[in-house]
Amino acid sequence: MTTELLFRESPYETRFEATVEAIDGNDIVLDRTLFYPHGGGQPGDSGILTLADGGTLTVADTRKGEAGAVVHRVSAGTTLPAVGDRVSGEIDWSRRHAHMRMHTCMHLLSVAIPAPVTGGSVGADKGRLDFDLPESTLDRETVTASLNALITADHPVTAEWITEAELDAQPDLVKTLSAQPPRGEGDIRLIRIGDVDLQPCGGTHVASTAEIGRVRVAKIEKKSRHNRRVSIVFDPEG
Ligand SMILES: [Zn+2]
Repeated sequence: MTTELLFRESPYETRFEATVEAIDGNDIVLDRTLFYPHGGGQPGDSGILTLADGGTLTVADTRKGEAGAVVHRVSAGTTLPAVGDRVSGEIDWSRRHAHMRMHTCMHLLSVAIPAPVTGGSVGADKGRLDFDLPESTLDRETVTASLNALITADHPVTAEWITEAELDAQPDLVKTLSAQPPRGEGDIRLIRIGDVDLQPCGGTHVASTAEIGRVRVAKIEKKSRHNRRVSIVFDPEG
């Protein structure tokens, strides 16, 4: 069963209605969802499902299941709905919005530091990318200034789709070597940030870069000869 991914077209929506498709232990699969499943370095959403009788379930995490299903992992010990039941869902918006801001910031970090990306992750208060940069001259203040200039320029963030063949013809689009776009699942989604960045991504993003707010480079670590880890935090007072 494939879950319809409502967050793709509606990243700012927080509430939705759905039907329970399957239940396995404390894992619930719905026919449609706004809950983003862990992937591409972005954590799975948390939130609440409300049953027809008014009872609520806490969604602690969201994961990808088999065959395009999205699995909502609810807290143990709650009374579960039945397959076919209608539920309403609400994501933890403040946490998700922080993920959207930091995730979009990671795209800008790959612009500020034009080197191959070998890994990364996003959290509600920090994010990081790993770069293959054997001879690094990265400076915290310089990268911080570059990032905040890209943010305050308020570039629009938009999504578009290309075929796998079109992506194969433009391999430079794939910056994150460790997270190649999924193959065999149809067209590939690209995220465009104004005229500064274009890369495949399935995550959730803010609509324009000013919404990220001020950030700063917290630290730059040399993890190995081919791994320079750059960590970013929000810096509202900066
Ligand atoms: Zn992204």
